[in-house]
Amino acid sequence: MPNDALSPAETAAFLQSADQVRAAAVRYLSDKRGSPLAITFVRNLQNGIDQVVSAAINQGVELACKVGCNHCCSARVEAIAPEVFRIARDIASRPAEEINAHIERLRVYDAMPSAVAPWQRRTPCPFLIDDLCSIYAVRPGVCRKAHSLDVAKCVENAPEIPQSLNIVLGAEALLKGTADAYREIGLQAAAHALGPAVLIALSDPAAESRWLSGEAVFE
Ligand code: SF4
Repeated sequence: MPNDALSPAETAAFLQSADQVRAAAVRYLSDKRGSPLAITFVRNLQNGIDQVVSAAINQGVELACKVGCNHCCSARVEAIAPEVFRIARDIASRPAEEINAHIERLRVYDAMPSAVAPWQRRTPCPFLIDDLCSIYAVRPGVCRKAHSLDVAKCVENAPEIPQSLNIVLGAEALLKGTADAYREIGLQAAAHALGPAVLIALSDPAAESRWLSGEAVFE
């Protein structure tokens, strides 16, 4: 659940919304297991979250987020497998020099010597380059959902960042419903740390087909 403080009515509305997303996604995905279309489908999740954010802004929600502001890019970022493959495909379509630079950054990030994982140390995301997201067009749903109503809280790394409940609930319903739909057709839809998962997808040419056959390739 996105928020333990939800009222019973809000909880019921959230679960109903997530189930509507799941049902619609299953209608499309039911015969797509094994097909690359199961990967491209995840665009709907990401576009849907963008629309949730746009709708909130149109209704008067004032986001503190600005281009070049990237405080939230040092938090743990997770993605489900089709999002990981979408990013890996995008990177693989770039010039060889850029592909190799990304792989090197991901390897360095993955191998940082520490008792704790990089994301626990608030290490900047390996896709953050010169203060901008280098995979912005294909960034995962959790990045599209991330926002703040008060940049001062982001600067001080406050434990609670003020957010729009409509954005959080709308985006979480899309995330949950979509992941549930993938599971329902027999595909793994656990959330994985983004950098290490993309490194696997870029390094293993068989990763996509293994996932499409039901394997958990990022465990
Ligand atoms: S993928 Fe992009 S938006 Fe998401 S945390 Fe990394 S740099 Fe930031």
